[in-house]
Amino acid sequence: MKGVVILGESECSVKDFPDPVPDVGEVRVKMMATGICGSDLHLYHMDKQQAKKRGERIPGHEPCGIVDAVGNGVKKVKEGNRVTIGHWLGCGYCDQCAAGNIMWCEERRGYGGAIDGSHADYVIANERNCVLMPDSMSFIDGAFIACPGGTAYSSMKKLDVRIGDTVAVFGLGPVGLSGVILAKAMGGKVIGVDIIKERTELAKKLGADAVVNAKEDDPVKVIRDFTGGKGTPLAFEASGSAKGRTDIVSSLCRGGKAVFVGAGSSENVINPGQLIGSQLTLMGSFVIPLWMTWEMVDFISTQDITFEGAVTHRFSIDKASEAYRIFDEGKTGKVVFEWS
Ligand SMILES: [Zn+2]
Ligand SMILES: [Zn+2]
Repeated sequence: MKGVVILGESECSVKDFPDPVPDVGEVRVKMMATGICGSDLHLYHMDKQQAKKRGERIPGHEPCGIVDAVGNGVKKVKEGNRVTIGHWLGCGYCDQCAAGNIMWCEERRGYGGAIDGSHADYVIANERNCVLMPDSMSFIDGAFIACPGGTAYSSMKKLDVRIGDTVAVFGLGPVGLSGVILAKAMGGKVIGVDIIKERTELAKKLGADAVVNAKEDDPVKVIRDFTGGKGTPLAFEASGSAKGRTDIVSSLCRGGKAVFVGAGSSENVINPGQLIGSQLTLMGSFVIPLWMTWEMVDFISTQDITFEGAVTHRFSIDKASEAYRIFDEGKTGKVVFEWS
């Protein structure tokens, strides 16, 4: 099979690997769609020395495809099943694994990190990580559920978006755009913020009621105007920038809630006075628990939601160098690999 190898310093290549064989309890999934994520770019930017140390571990953690071989002991998942794959492996026994919070297992290993990921023709997955998808759901939607869509969904559940709520979304990359799509689907009025014109325009196309280019206008003022001077009750921070974080807190109304998912700046920007006086609820969130992935597949399919509109570039796996380069420019929506 073909798989991507990270060379470091903004270079990657495609290499031939032997087709993987599923072991006991594992299945092999023929990839149909998988995205390039901001966290793949952290690998892409490693220096050559670090990349050499990482070796030929295949990146990618947004796997979606069709099961094409099952190992011994696999009981529920069958060849031909369409699946999105929860991208953390845990010990399978501890309290966090039992609760489906595999990303909190002490022995967790991530696809594309410690184990081979999805930027390849095939992925080996544990049977329990395979979440079945209905025929009506696209493979792109399954890939979104595995990471950016799932991250946004678990955050919107924390915000508990209700019909008519204003939701400010800061950072309109793939995670923020997924937030726009989901907040709209839940009945929210969405105001999107970014500093890149291509991204604010895409958010508008995907249903944002208003957008702000933070390079041209003050997002705090625009959000206050949008909400009759009060500020927004709900906000989703996916930019990871210090300014985005400061502005999002300043744009909350009294009693407002914000979820932070954008990694990036390590600057401490939270003002305790503001937090206490306005009785704000500030939460962090990270990916999506495995149990909630089942719920999300159901939500997306029954509500007829799709993330397809957030995809701006589609590549075959042999064009990985070009795909990574274009996504790294930071002006795109989601960049994906697709198979037929
Ligand atoms: Zn991702
Ligand atoms: Zn565990």
